[in-house]
Amino acid sequence: MEYDRNNVFARILRGELPCKKVFEDEHALAFHDINPLAPVHVLVVPKGEYVSNADFSARAPDALVVGFWRAVGTTAKMLGLEPDGYRLVANHGPNGGQLVFHFHVHIFGGRQMSHRMG
Ligand code: IMP
Repeated sequence: MEYDRNNVFARILRGELPCKKVFEDEHALAFHDINPLAPVHVLVVPKGEYVSNADFSARAPDALVVGFWRAVGTTAKMLGLEPDGYRLVANHGPNGGQLVFHFHVHIFGGRQMSHRMG
């Protein structure tokens, strides 16, 4: 699938749409999900045009891959989720239930997760 430059996260990254920002650096932006599914539900998006994890892991420069995952860790820590733990999810393609086609990782926290996987 080709990257759509007008997807909602691209527009947030360009500052065309607002977000409730948690963390930002040169590699990533983290903000609260508009429809939270847990007491804490934050999305971390890399800065760059990547449709999915497959695209990101294949094409992103090493520094961005490392910087992105560091930003995920920093964001979880800033949210105070470290001691009790949290869940990371990345939906990929139709079977994964991906709705926004700019690669992102969900951070869920603030309660005991009720399901294992799937
Ligand atoms: P996914 O693509 O299935 O991983 O889900 C995309 C996520 O983006 C959903 O949890 C939506 O609630 C969230 N979302 C969609 N639009 C916005 C927005 O404008 N701000 C914050 N979160 C959003």
